[in-house]
Amino acid sequence: MPAILSGCAKPDDWRARVDGRWVGDNAVLGHRVRDAAAHPPANARARRCDVLVVGSGIAGLSAARALQRAGIADFAVLELEDAPGGNSRGHAMHGLRCPLGAHYLPLPGPSAPDIQSWLVEIGLARSTPSGLKWDERQLCHSPQERLFFNGRWQEGLLPDVPRASATQAQYRRFAKAVAEAGEIGFALPTNRAPWTPAHAALDAVTAAQWLHGQGIVDPLVLAYLDYCCRDDYGAGIATVSAWALVHYFASRHGFRAPGDDGNDRDPVLTWPDGNAPLMQALRRPFADRVLTDRAVFRIDEGLQDVTAWAFAGAEVERWTARHVVVATPLFIAAHVLSAPPPALVAAAKQQRRAPWMVANLLLDALPLDRVGAPLSWDNVIHGSASLGYVDAQHQSLARVVGPRLLTAYWAFADADRRRLLEMPWQDATQMILDDLRVVHPDLSERLQQVDLVRHGHAMSIPAPGLRSSAALAAVPECAARLSFAHADLSAYSVFEEAFTRGDAAGRRVARALGLAAS
Ligand SMILES: Cc1cc2nc3c(=O)[nH]c(=O)nc-3n(C[C@H](O)[C@H](O)[C@H](O)COP(=O)(O)OP(=O)(O)OC[C@H]3O[C@@H](n4cnc5c(N)ncnc54)[C@H](O)[C@@H]3O)c2cc1C
Repeated sequence: MPAILSGCAKPDDWRARVDGRWVGDNAVLGHRVRDAAAHPPANARARRCDVLVVGSGIAGLSAARALQRAGIADFAVLELEDAPGGNSRGHAMHGLRCPLGAHYLPLPGPSAPDIQSWLVEIGLARSTPSGLKWDERQLCHSPQERLFFNGRWQEGLLPDVPRASATQAQYRRFAKAVAEAGEIGFALPTNRAPWTPAHAALDAVTAAQWLHGQGIVDPLVLAYLDYCCRDDYGAGIATVSAWALVHYFASRHGFRAPGDDGNDRDPVLTWPDGNAPLMQALRRPFADRVLTDRAVFRIDEGLQDVTAWAFAGAEVERWTARHVVVATPLFIAAHVLSAPPPALVAAAKQQRRAPWMVANLLLDALPLDRVGAPLSWDNVIHGSASLGYVDAQHQSLARVVGPRLLTAYWAFADADRRRLLEMPWQDATQMILDDLRVVHPDLSERLQQVDLVRHGHAMSIPAPGLRSSAALAAVPECAARLSFAHADLSAYSVFEEAFTRGDAAGRRVARALGLAAS
């Protein structure tokens, strides 16, 4: 046994000493919405506004921002949870900030000028004659990522192999396949790219089938691509479509084999508490209009206006509005609407959802580490079922002393949802410790507290057929009195999709109400 492993604690020693809890997602309130009686009570408290936004994730907040910019002052955003932000919420433990979900934003490219100009507006970038200059403090500091492979940490996430190896040849084959497939046009957000029969053909097969057809069979290359899909889509190459796999690379930085030109990792924006500062910047101009602990359980579209019913603690509120933007996941939208559009019902049924778990581990000090590349922002173990962990203090400008916070990420199969919901936090923590023990043998001894969140229905999986689904395309972004805004409308979930869907809905509502959106 290597010396580094000899100090290993017995796996269960930590249980009597460590504090832990599930935080964040309120499954009880969510399920109260699911099980709500069809007839709302007669004594509900009446409230009114011009436009009601349901859900304060990035899409809901982006819709509210567009409404405000268009001059609509009388709006409210209702949020089921006790804090806004949905999957982009942040958290803190002992004064240290950490994420509960989304944790980075790649620098937006030319197909996202609206996101670029918003990032300039909130001070993250400056326009200069030679292009945007980003605030270096918010760009992910070096070293950005490392992989535990063959018993040591190496820089970057691609398994390092000899330049003359068969694996290297397969990396190059994949780079060529992505470059060729990418010629049909990919963009982030997705709806800024064309949708052609060639896109639909990619969307008809799984990523694994397409890779096989391209002759990409090397286990190391496949393991890397499987990790990329699990990390972005919550499901691996056997589940997501080939369109999703190609989109992952072709809409961003492409793919280059290690050692080839342009293989440098693209920079990303990140914060100790993940994307929470982006969410807070969106919400800031209308923070008083975002009402939390409001679980909307029924929406009735009338001839003149819309009525939405919400649990608000022990009370029920009855909101009347000229227009409602439903910025919840599509399956919730289909459930709470008393007469949902048939396309919405069909799209929600077609959408499979990945459950996720995020665990923030508060340690009294950094744990022992294996040899090789130093602790990085993103740390991944080759062959692990997890997605590795992020160092929440990586962006600190001061020397970090004292306690440390590591954030571990796991995506599960939809069949595991109930098991996750019923899992005691101790069992979840043991699973994480077992996973990370190979790289940090004394992790359980260092552990002081663990705050975990489970996102039972976290995100839509872009499985074959979903992006090209006629039902999804037919969900009305803006009808007479109802709009839909959520990353689900793009078949998968990232900041760019949520922001753009919300912005588009907010602008259309402003136009529908006779106000020009700026
Ligand atoms: C663990 C994890 C990691 C991620 N990492 C990244 C990342 O690094 N970068 C990235 O770009 N994206 C990431 N994502 C994707 C993330 O989902 C998007 O970035 C974005 O936050 C989605 O926003 P949204 O508004 O579309 O949806 P959501 O975040 O789902 O927002 C929907 C909101 O509606 C509320 N709601 C639901 N039902 C009701 C109701 N009945 N009444 C009132 N309110 C209701 C919810 O509580 C929620 O606040 C990650 C997601 C997860 C789960």
